[in-house]
Amino acid sequence: MSVSAIMTESFGKFFLPGPTEVHPDVLATLSQPMIAHRGREMDELLGGMRRPMKELFRTQKFLLLGNCAATGFMEMAIRSGVRHRVLSLVGGAFGERFAAIGSACGRDVVKLNVPLGKTVEPDMLRDALTRSDVDAVTVVHSETATGALAPLESLAEVVKDFDDVMLLVDGVTSVAGSPVETEKWGLDFVFTGTQKAMALPPGLALGAASPRLLERAQTIPERGAYLDLVTHVKAFDNGQPTNTPTIPLLYGLREQFKRIDEAGGIEARWSRHKDMLDTVEAWMADRGEKLGFSYLPDEERRSWTVSCLNVPEGYSGRDLSHSLRDKGWTLAAGYGELRPSTIRIGHMGDHTVAELEGLLAMLEAEIE
Ligand SMILES: *Cc1c(COP(=O)(O)O)cnc(C)c1O
Repeated sequence: MSVSAIMTESFGKFFLPGPTEVHPDVLATLSQPMIAHRGREMDELLGGMRRPMKELFRTQKFLLLGNCAATGFMEMAIRSGVRHRVLSLVGGAFGERFAAIGSACGRDVVKLNVPLGKTVEPDMLRDALTRSDVDAVTVVHSETATGALAPLESLAEVVKDFDDVMLLVDGVTSVAGSPVETEKWGLDFVFTGTQKAMALPPGLALGAASPRLLERAQTIPERGAYLDLVTHVKAFDNGQPTNTPTIPLLYGLREQFKRIDEAGGIEARWSRHKDMLDTVEAWMADRGEKLGFSYLPDEERRSWTVSCLNVPEGYSGRDLSHSLRDKGWTLAAGYGELRPSTIRIGHMGDHTVAELEGLLAMLEAEIE
């Protein structure tokens, strides 16, 4: 049996909500020779990303490819998108991070907090925007710390009623795993990182920007250099990297776009993720609730890529994740203060319903 066949056989047991498991066929593409970072081969490599990037973000407008963790694009969003004051919607650790980056970059930050597992609803957003004079809103679409999915389309509707307010969206665990309609919903900035629902190793950030965000950015003098939105948009438009890129990850990204096409396109990818959410919900109704698990987020507000469950009395998220790890299966304990009371299953990227059912069976065996 070849090494890659053995690896393929063991694939499907690693369910962290990022970094997620990388398929052996994708991993194999990373070990190709380097090419010049300026030149014909790079032009072709990056030029070939245009169509699939448009399809990924559902936009004909501006696209960006950056060499950084997704957090780099959170900082870009603030530096290039916020003039003075930003309203940050916070329902978990990543919403909190976006707000903290706003403060670290010297902007005024107004926080709109909801309890862990909840999402800011459109009427709450309208009320907050009426009360405070902000020029941008940050929101985490799928809050990976709680498994809650914000009603992004309706939130975007509200933001449109306020003049010159940019909507900056952390789509790190929603893009490629559930519907994100950048142009149709009127999102000004959306980004993700390669290690989440794109199922690549970490290291690249992908993004999409609206024309009015680009205009705004051009009027903000101190946007920084390495994470400047304007530079990134121009570079992608010209089929050039901003700096020497992580070339192996670009090979991986090209391969992953090809695999997405072959599997029926981005909508088919979304629907496989929906099937995985449905699988967890069905297991909860059938078995999980009887064992003492309960969902942290409400029905209709559950992420398609990460499920966060309260663990039964007498168990801890940490201990459950450790004992599963000893049996060769990986899921995550809760994040931050939710660490003892919850587990998180990252069903994203290239995972399938069958693999997820395997994990749920293992989890069940831990309780019985
Ligand atoms: C993982 C994650 C991030 C941070 O990604 P990095 O690549 O580690 O910077 C930000 N937001 C959300 C919602 C995430 O899940």
